[in-house]
Amino acid sequence: MVDTQKFVQTIDELARTLRGLAESGVRGFACAPEALATLTSWGRRRPPRQPQPLPKPLESLEVIREDIGDCQRCKLCRSRTRIVFGAGSPRAQLMFIGEGPGQDEDRAGEPFVGAAGQLLTRIIAAINLGREEVYIANVVKCRPPENRQPEPDEIATCAPFLRRQIAAIRPLFICTLGASAAQTLLGTTEPISRLRGRFFDFEGIRVLPTFHPAYLLRNAEKKREVWQDMQLLMKEYPYEG
Ligand code: URA
Repeated sequence: MVDTQKFVQTIDELARTLRGLAESGVRGFACAPEALATLTSWGRRRPPRQPQPLPKPLESLEVIREDIGDCQRCKLCRSRTRIVFGAGSPRAQLMFIGEGPGQDEDRAGEPFVGAAGQLLTRIIAAINLGREEVYIANVVKCRPPENRQPEPDEIATCAPFLRRQIAAIRPLFICTLGASAAQTLLGTTEPISRLRGRFFDFEGIRVLPTFHPAYLLRNAEKKREVWQDMQLLMKEYPYEG
């Protein structure tokens, strides 16, 4: 693990040394002010993302699905079988967002239908809801080969469709599953272990990051924390009756 503070200190020292050498007339290395500014920015946190207003909910999920079409916008189209758009109620008060389809989802064209999906169904049942009452989507709509993490260019290409889905549904709550979804939505690189367990804001929607069900299948002891997160959600969720 990189020690960020130490890394920033080292870079600062390096930039100071290079600047000193440049000022004393030494040439033959990258000493232009732009190069030094770039160097100094390394290891520092990215500036906070400017919130972009959600598009007005003028379009339906059907229109967004039609717009995706037989998508060829990124390289994931080459290995996918089916696009996994999302499933559930278009009027859901709660949306779950995962990372991307796995093999079972790629075959079925439905999100979260494999082993992790079955666990998600149990989590949804544990908060007294049914899958048909919530909406389930992913950051990327096509399966990354060998279930690798989606790459930044793939996320950048697909995320606008997720934003449009969110705008069309306008849920009260979003529960992000795993690091990719939380980091994409919140524009952060914070690890999921630090993000989970509290609410964030995304364009006026309350976002609760929690661990991914696939991670829970490998780390059963983390289920307790997810249950704590679900209890937070249940305290706020407007159950009917
Ligand atoms: N994992 C995800 O992130 N999404 C799915 O749809 C299935 C597994």
